[in-house]
Amino acid sequence: MTPETAWIAQRIKQDQINRYLDRGRDFIDDNAIWDEIKKAAEPDAATVRTILAKSLAVQTLAPEELAQLMLVRDPGLLEEMKAAAFAVKKKVYDNRIVTFAPLYMGNFCVNNCAYCGFKRENTEAKRRVLSMEEIRRETESLAGKIGHKRIIAVYGEHPLTGIDYILESMRTIYDVKVLTKHGYGNIRRINVNAAPMSIEELTRLKDGGLGTYQVFQETYHHETYAKLHPKGTLKSDYHWRLYAMHRALEAGIDDVGIGVLFGLYDWRFEIMALLYHAIELEAKLGIGPHTVSFPRMEPALNSDYAEHSPYKVSDEDFKKIILLIRLAIPYTGMIITARETAQMRRDAIGLGITQTDASTKIGIGSYSEEGSEQESKRQQFMLGDTRSLDELVKDFADMGHITSFCTAGYRCGRTGKCIMDLLRSGKEGKFCKLNAVLTFQEWLDDFATPATREAGLRVLEKELEEIRATNPQGFPVFFQFLERVRKGERDLFL
Ligand code: SAM
Ligand code: SF4
Repeated sequence: MTPETAWIAQRIKQDQINRYLDRGRDFIDDNAIWDEIKKAAEPDAATVRTILAKSLAVQTLAPEELAQLMLVRDPGLLEEMKAAAFAVKKKVYDNRIVTFAPLYMGNFCVNNCAYCGFKRENTEAKRRVLSMEEIRRETESLAGKIGHKRIIAVYGEHPLTGIDYILESMRTIYDVKVLTKHGYGNIRRINVNAAPMSIEELTRLKDGGLGTYQVFQETYHHETYAKLHPKGTLKSDYHWRLYAMHRALEAGIDDVGIGVLFGLYDWRFEIMALLYHAIELEAKLGIGPHTVSFPRMEPALNSDYAEHSPYKVSDEDFKKIILLIRLAIPYTGMIITARETAQMRRDAIGLGITQTDASTKIGIGSYSEEGSEQESKRQQFMLGDTRSLDELVKDFADMGHITSFCTAGYRCGRTGKCIMDLLRSGKEGKFCKLNAVLTFQEWLDDFATPATREAGLRVLEKELEEIRATNPQGFPVFFQFLERVRKGERDLFL
């Protein structure tokens, strides 16, 4: 046995799967989902409106309701659905867009996922793991030059990037503080996208200051999952992955992120399964997904499947998917990434997306090393939108959105069940609006170009008026905080 095979052999803890199974079965019943999709009929206007009223009351839809909404074709009703989706987003998240940057830590991987450029048998990939010094330099670029406050750290599954490495990399990132024009910049929330872990490892991750833990099921369809994740690899264990979030919540990680890699299987099945996952987490652990991500498959080096999948999702269907999930799981944060084009990201925000990345580079070491953008041998797939954070902030501001750099949530206990209750009642928006304004002012002062600053300050003024009008008691304290930020104090939150 090599050290690598020995590492692989001890990864999966079967007892941390079995405890969640129901008489040996998981909660995704492929046949039942297809039956539900097939037996649904196109709903009449009254039925659509009853379902939308539920979404607007921030209640999770039942699978049969989602199956019905999928069939709506009447243009008038589709417009009502879009209006409702936007209203749900406004009620729960207001006009805030949260931004982050992905930080790829390494591309060694023991798995062989058919669609991924990091797969083990892709011998053309240039393999590399960042050293702590390199991570420090990447963080300095992200927090000091661009102004990011939150990142998603992405890891391949490999002994070189196991739990000890993940924890050390998080400590390194949190330790970096860079002087800026008027204050300092630092990363205040690290979300992690990494392979499924055991409860013991997840507990350590939580103690290391984790924000959200993300694992995408890729496809919930058992047969397709088995086809794309070759037998004998760690990732071929569907259940180990499916229950990753059960374990995370048990380990006390309150914010968990789920997702599907759209393009692997029929999207209608996948969104039903996403909803079943949310319902299962709510029912068994009391907390639904903090976020749902919408990665859509992109071409990847030496991946035929990524190029020729029969299930590729068209732009129109992709927008429909976003609309339907916003209505079906109304409280959840929704993430679209720079895989998509600028126009798709704009459209998606109008349908209920709440988070997106900016100034994105996904080559290992790309933020701090010159000339390494879009280099196919070092990155997992190709990007659709490489605009800078400054450009994105301006674009959003011109659309009337405020870019929030708030990272208060997990640091002041507004996570998990607590945040879900706040989101459902519409109260989270109150705190978040204040913190969004404080952090937006901070970013505009430290990082914005003159044109972006001007556009940003216009939105900020409107926000201030709204806060003054809707929260007269809270306004004076909030305004004191804002003045302190304007004078150069950093990382203030309410
Ligand atoms: N190795 C870990 C895992 O697989 O869970 C985490 C890192 S992996 C790089 C992060 C995500 O990238 C995967 O969950 C998958 O959804 C996505 N991905 C893989 N290949 C892709 C492709 N060709 N296009 C778009 N996204 C892809
Ligand atoms: Fe490895 Fe994740 Fe890529 Fe699969 S998707 S090959 S597990 S990095």
